[in-house]
Amino acid sequence: MGFSDRYESVLAEVAACCRLAGRDPREVRVVAVSKTVGLPEVGRAVRAGALDFGENRPDMLMEKARAFPEARWHFIGNVQSRRIPDIVAHACLVHSLCRERHLPKVDAAARKLGKVQDVLLEVNVSGEESKSGFEPAEVADVLARCSELSFVRVRGLMTMAAQGDLAAARECFEGLAGLRDDLRRRMGADRAAAFDELSMGMSEDWREAVGAGATIVRIGRALFDEQFGATRA
Ligand SMILES: *Cc1c(COP(=O)(O)O)cnc(C)c1O
Repeated sequence: MGFSDRYESVLAEVAACCRLAGRDPREVRVVAVSKTVGLPEVGRAVRAGALDFGENRPDMLMEKARAFPEARWHFIGNVQSRRIPDIVAHACLVHSLCRERHLPKVDAAARKLGKVQDVLLEVNVSGEESKSGFEPAEVADVLARCSELSFVRVRGLMTMAAQGDLAAARECFEGLAGLRDDLRRRMGADRAAAFDELSMGMSEDWREAVGAGATIVRIGRALFDEQFGATRA
């Protein structure tokens, strides 16, 4: 199987999971996480029809976004202050904002480029010490302060579940969906309409995420690694 077959099969399965959950398949965007592959593989993926790609290193984001400007590039990695201008110059959506001091810097970088940067706030739903992300209880305050930034638009929330326990992953994803719903109820209708994204679910747990309401799944190995299906029992 090549990328194209794996991509088609993931799309078909996403659609099936949506129907099971009573959701419209058009609500879920598949981001192909290309962080482990080079430009030729990305080229094959673009030709197979993939539109959205995720990268976790600014240098790779820049290189691949320049090579394939027809695709949409998502930044899903650790954000460092000094790389914010590069990230903002190339990302359609930054999934992984988890430090409040970075938000004014994203705002300034976007202002310079004459764009409004769409971002997600990463939330540490499971509360594990080792995980990055805002505490669920602090997100409302962060959002209130973001509303003062004219060049940053917070489109929703992102999380990562602990790997290896699908029931715990499902609980984590339901927690993020519940938090988004709570926050939306406290917003005006205008603001709530644009605060609709839930980026959650990776190769091993995206089915649980779609069931819990994900609007974006970030899939790497299941699309790019030929061995992935074989090693998954
Ligand atoms: C690598 C990565 C993914 C994709 O992981 P797979 O398990 O390969 O699907 C998704 N999200 C983030 C933040 C990642 O770093």
